[in-house]
Amino acid sequence: MTDKYAVIGNPIGHTKSPLIHMTFAEQTGQDIEYTAIEGSLGGFREAAEAFRAAGGCGMNVTAPFKLDAFAYATDLTEQAQLAGAVNALKFADGKVYAQNFDGIGLTRDIVHNLGYPMRGKRVLLLGAGGAARGAMLPFLKEKPAQLVLVNRTVSKAKELFEQFSPYAGDTDFSFCAYPELGDLSVQFDMVINATSASLRGELPPVHTGVFKPGCLAYELAYGKGLTPFLRLAQGAGAQKLADGVGMLVEQAAEAFEWWRSVRPETAPMIATLTVPLV
Ligand code: NDP
Repeated sequence: MTDKYAVIGNPIGHTKSPLIHMTFAEQTGQDIEYTAIEGSLGGFREAAEAFRAAGGCGMNVTAPFKLDAFAYATDLTEQAQLAGAVNALKFADGKVYAQNFDGIGLTRDIVHNLGYPMRGKRVLLLGAGGAARGAMLPFLKEKPAQLVLVNRTVSKAKELFEQFSPYAGDTDFSFCAYPELGDLSVQFDMVINATSASLRGELPPVHTGVFKPGCLAYELAYGKGLTPFLRLAQGAGAQKLADGVGMLVEQAAEAFEWWRSVRPETAPMIATLTVPLV
């Protein structure tokens, strides 16, 4: 019997998830159906229940339902618990297992696909929203030498810092406001833009001095070409510019493996979805 999966969001017209998962299924010989569901605002639980009742085996969850999925879950992984949000559900044994693969996918893209190990490196993370929160534990597990969080609303960076400090180990972990970055006099091996500024063509107020020559500049938004952040990084001598297409595909691969116990190859799909950074 064909197993049913879906992505739920609102709006959902833009989603690449059905294409990604059906391509993975074909590549790995899995018999699945994968659809997109536009949930009504406030109607997540109802839509998830209906999908389960129709035999659904699992769902990806995107905006604005990641917190609803968190509340709906019966079994949360540590990563989902700490992220405070859920982007993948698995329905089995009458339970709702939940995970958040966004930060895991981001880390895998940086370390494995792009070949920038974090261990022993200095990492600057811009933003303290949902994506940044999801990245905290996977980043700290990579044991960077230093991890600095910076956010426009400093209280949110402080909140994340306090929550994740117990997981910092030997990493020199701190937070600050944008104007304080200059005082640090540190150049970073990786600067990761987890703000949503680029979605509006804006630049987070970061100065060029943070980019170590030869560094990686990573933009979580994808398909936007050379964003103001990536343009700044390029001018500052960053060696590698990347956007979040690899993160998107890697988080999907993680969910696929979680559901189907087989790991798809991600490189061809990343190549298909990549928009040149010009
Ligand atoms: P949130 O709305 O949760 O957080 C937005 C963050 O951006 C906040 O920290 C906010 O700061 C900051 N911000 C917004 N505008 C500016 C600005 N002009 N200058 C400085 N900071 C700014 O968003 P998400 O965390 O969900 O998403 C962040 C980004 O990650 C988006 O671009 C999104 O598209 C991308 N993303 C990519 C994924 C992928 O698979 N590639 C998956 C998930 C997200 P403040 O707290 O002060 O408001």
